[in-house]
Amino acid sequence: MAKLLKGGIVVTAHGRRQVDVRIEGEKISEIGTNLSTEGAEVEDVSGCYLLPGFIDAHTHLELNNGPGSQGSADNFYTGSRAAAAKGTTTVIDMATPTKGQSLKDCLAVWNGFSEGKSSCDYTYHMSIIEWNEEIKQEIGEMIAAGITSFKMYMAYDNLRVTDGELFEAMRELKKYGAMLGVHCENGDLVNEKIRQLVSEGKATPHYHPLSRPDAIEAEAVERYLMIANEAELSVNIVHLSTRRSLDAVRRARQRGQKLYVETCPQYLLLDDSVYDQPNFLGAKYVCSPPIRKVDDQKALWEGIADGSVNTISTDHCSFNFEGQKTLGREDFSKIPNGMPGVETRPEVIYTAGVAAGKMSLEKMVALLSENIARQFHLFPQKGILQEGSDADIVVWDPELRGVIAAATQLQNVDYTPYDGFATKGGATAVYLRGEKVAQGGEIVNEKQGHFVYRKVPSAD
Ligand SMILES: [Zn+2]
Repeated sequence: MAKLLKGGIVVTAHGRRQVDVRIEGEKISEIGTNLSTEGAEVEDVSGCYLLPGFIDAHTHLELNNGPGSQGSADNFYTGSRAAAAKGTTTVIDMATPTKGQSLKDCLAVWNGFSEGKSSCDYTYHMSIIEWNEEIKQEIGEMIAAGITSFKMYMAYDNLRVTDGELFEAMRELKKYGAMLGVHCENGDLVNEKIRQLVSEGKATPHYHPLSRPDAIEAEAVERYLMIANEAELSVNIVHLSTRRSLDAVRRARQRGQKLYVETCPQYLLLDDSVYDQPNFLGAKYVCSPPIRKVDDQKALWEGIADGSVNTISTDHCSFNFEGQKTLGREDFSKIPNGMPGVETRPEVIYTAGVAAGKMSLEKMVALLSENIARQFHLFPQKGILQEGSDADIVVWDPELRGVIAAATQLQNVDYTPYDGFATKGGATAVYLRGEKVAQGGEIVNEKQGHFVYRKVPSAD
């Protein structure tokens, strides 16, 4: 039976209007005023906004071989439920092979994590952690399998490649029109800083941000962009966190380079005073890049206002405080890196951004949905509410009030970095390809997520 959402205000990246939305099967079949209710199950959504399902382009729902290699607290089942419950209907998870593993085998492992278990739609960025003839050959196979975006690292000894390998990979990716995102930190300097600090007995979480200062990110961003410019590839910078990196981005754009910038809620809402919380609680915020200074936070909001920042995703990578973060009690470099966030992104960005007057709702739709869909080849199937698009719809009540708490969250982890944060606005219902999957912040229909096959537009 068709569904008709009546009386809501549809918001896109470019405007809003009060219209009805008719859903047939998995798609939006009609948008307009006073649509006929005939043959449709009608839902009154007056007083609410209808937003395109949010897309999180940076999650590690299953981290089994990365830094802090004992397995993330969430998995695809728990993480995708937490996502969908609050309005995120698609995730692009980081598929990360182990050394020597083929991309094909890695893809099979990730499909094993997600298939039949995910409550939101999903695809992956395939990580390239080493470069050789076999991996090079596999790029085309990945594109054929619908994986059109890739991830590489300039830090973390088990994941990073050399500048030469990065350049070679970029040239190969360019042939296919693929998108590359890179973790930009100077890995050699990080190692040296950690060695120095720990050898001086400076081993508490307070020293984590001091081991990865802004210069370590900005230098890598600058170098990455120079290399990408040589390779003539448009690239993405993931989790950009500092003013100095944004300066490098602006310089690159001024010389005509096309690139994309992602930041994350933790860099917009938190500052480095979190590392001084007593009783080792600062370990909860150990992630890389680290939480930055108030001035960096200010620069990122300015970057959102002036269009320098294109997307906001989470880098969700959850580890329990008890038993996982505590592994680094004697040495901050042993604390598993990462924080939860896939559940809370829409609420915290609406509260701190839209409700606080720092961004329009249209801008939020762009940064959390449409821009991501366009950049990662999901548009217009995802990222917009229009006829023919997937009926991934968030019914958003701007008057909803709540408080984020570890005790009530759906993320399967024993803390949240936003504990006690009072939220304004929230999803009262979430539709995934026409099916209502969440209501009142709870999942009502789980495991409905599908793999989304992507195609590079120019390859058609
Ligand atoms: Zn990440």
